Amino acid sequence: MKPLIVANWKCNPITLKEAKKLFNLVKKGVKNFKNAEVVICPPFLYISNLKSQNSNIKIGAQNCFWEQKGAFTGEVSPKMLKNLGCQYVIVGHSERRRNLNETDEMVNRKLKAALKENLRPILCVGNKNRKREKEFKGIRIQMEKALSGIKKSDLKNLIITYEPVWAISTTKGREIATPIEAKEGAIFIRKILAKLFDKNFAQKIRIIYGGSVDSGNIRGFIKEAKMDGALVGAASLKPKEFVRTVKAASRA
Ligand code: PEP
Repeated sequence: MKPLIVANWKCNPITLKEAKKLFNLVKKGVKNFKNAEVVICPPFLYISNLKSQNSNIKIGAQNCFWEQKGAFTGEVSPKMLKNLGCQYVIVGHSERRRNLNETDEMVNRKLKAALKENLRPILCVGNKNRKREKEFKGIRIQMEKALSGIKKSDLKNLIITYEPVWAISTTKGREIATPIEAKEGAIFIRKILAKLFDKNFAQKIRIIYGGSVDSGNIRGFIKEAKMDGALVGAASLKPKEFVRTVKAASRA
């Protein structure tokens, strides 16, 4: 399967003009890389504009609500995203867990709502502690709660991001994960999936890596760690660097 490279623009850029420019530079740059699947997750309000730019790049959202409509001021529903042509949605990013007190129960409700609309959820799991035992315990709890009450047959489109918080570029004192650490993270996640569902299912789910990924290190994560792709934050805002990152992934 082609590596899946997901750009998480977070709360950037601050004008639609800049968003279109960034998108179009990436679109032009990745046009010939047929061996990678590229998804861009811009802020909500740029989605419809970028969707109409007509390209092979798929569009995702960075979050969604757990209800499809109603009196929920400020929220954006999976149904709305689907109606805009969005195919992917990030759920449970550590910045939302930390800054907005998003709980595992909320992540679970969002995941269920996204699956109901046939969006491909990109579930982020990760811990701020690099000590393996604590880190993996945190991930196990996140996964058990996020996937609680969801049938295996509804999870065919699930993508999991192993995103150690200690490796995210904006984390204070950030450290870079090695491909071996990423590989161990993915193995652990598959173990949990096998326990919650079964081994065959666990092997089929795409697990990507997130945390300071760029053109210099992506090869190690794809080739050595055998990750199914990457979630890219800071480097996705620099068009040349992001295009190089996609290129490296497509040749790994
Ligand atoms: C992220 O926070 O989703 C992320 C991947 O960030 P960065 O690549 O900047 O570490």
